[in-house]
Amino acid sequence: MCTCPHIEMCSLFHRTLADLPALATIYRNLYCRDRPDVCARYLIMEKLGRDKVPSSLYPNQIDRADRLIRAG
Ligand code: SF4
Repeated sequence: MCTCPHIEMCSLFHRTLADLPALATIYRNLYCRDRPDVCARYLIMEKLGRDKVPSSLYPNQIDRADRLIRAG
């Protein structure tokens, strides 16, 4: 168990889920505070950089993240 190093500035919470606090809490507990290594957004941040993460990408969209990473 570890906390994501991007948790303070991840746009998922500041923008995409700003009006959905219950869903934001679920993602924080499942990914940000436990398993960031399996978060689609985290993987792109680590491989391509924060500016390459689509605002619409959810943590569970690993297949989409893999495609984006392969495309570079
Ligand atoms: S959504 Fe993913 S990248 Fe964003 S803070 Fe949570 S674990 Fe990190």
